Amino acid sequence: MLQDAGLKISLCPGWEDRGHGDMGQVMGILCHHTATPGKHGNMPTLNILIKGRSDLPGPLSQLGLGRDGTYYIVAAGRCFHAGKGIWNGVVNGNSNFIGIEAENTGGHDDFPWPDVQMEAYHLGVAAILKHIGKNQDWCAGHKEYALPKGRKSDPDLDMVGFRASVKEILDGVGKPARIIPLAEPAQPGKVARATVRRGGNNNIDLVKLIQSKLHLNPDGNFGPKTEAAVRNLQAQHNMVADGIVGPKSWVLLDNL
Ligand SMILES: [Zn+2]
Repeated sequence: MLQDAGLKISLCPGWEDRGHGDMGQVMGILCHHTATPGKHGNMPTLNILIKGRSDLPGPLSQLGLGRDGTYYIVAAGRCFHAGKGIWNGVVNGNSNFIGIEAENTGGHDDFPWPDVQMEAYHLGVAAILKHIGKNQDWCAGHKEYALPKGRKSDPDLDMVGFRASVKEILDGVGKPARIIPLAEPAQPGKVARATVRRGGNNNIDLVKLIQSKLHLNPDGNFGPKTEAAVRNLQAQHNMVADGIVGPKSWVLLDNL
C-alpha cells in the first residue's frame, strides 16, 4: 500500500517474521521521531530500530522513515514503541498502533524537516489509514498518546496540522501538498519537463535524457541503477538524495 501511494520502500531482511509476537487488531498509527543526535545520513537509527537498545529489545517500530522520504520496513509483528498512554480509548499502543519512527534529531539543528520526508510522512500515514478503513483521527503523535502527560515530546511536529494534511489526501479534495512539483515551472518558449521518479508514470524520452547525462545505458527504464545514480549526483551537490528528478535536479543535470 505504501508503494501504491508512490512512496519509496526499503525492506529490511527478516521483516516478515520480526516482532514481539503478532500485533493485535491494527487501529491506527503512532508518529515518532528518532531523536538520534547529529544529522548524519539518511536513517542512522535503522539498526537500533531493528535490534533495540540495552534497556529495550528491538524491534522498536514497524516502520522507519528516512530523511529522503524512504520507508524502511522493519517488522510486521508487535514492536516496543508506545509505552503507557491512551488515544481514542486505545491503551495498548504496542498491540494496536503501527509505529513510524521518522529520522529527526528533535532539535533546532534539524528543523524544518526536509520537504520530501514530510510529504512521505503524510502520504504514508494516509495510505495505511485508508487500508485499515480509519480516518485521520486515528493517527496520533507519541507526545499526544503518552502518559503521564509530558512523558514524550516526539514528534517535533504540529499534529493538528499533520492530521489536516492527511485528511486532504484521504478526501482527495483540494490539492494535497505535493511538495515536489509535477513539472518544472512554465517558461516562455520552453517545454516544462515532468518530474521523473522510479515507479512513476515516466516519459521514456525524459528517462533516456537523464540516463545519457549520467553516462548510463539509455534504455528508458528508470530502475534501481538510474535511481542510485541520481541519488549519488544529488548527494554530491548537498541536495536531499531522494533519487527523484524534479525541477532542482533538472537544473543540476543541465549543468553537467
Ligand atoms: Zn516516540
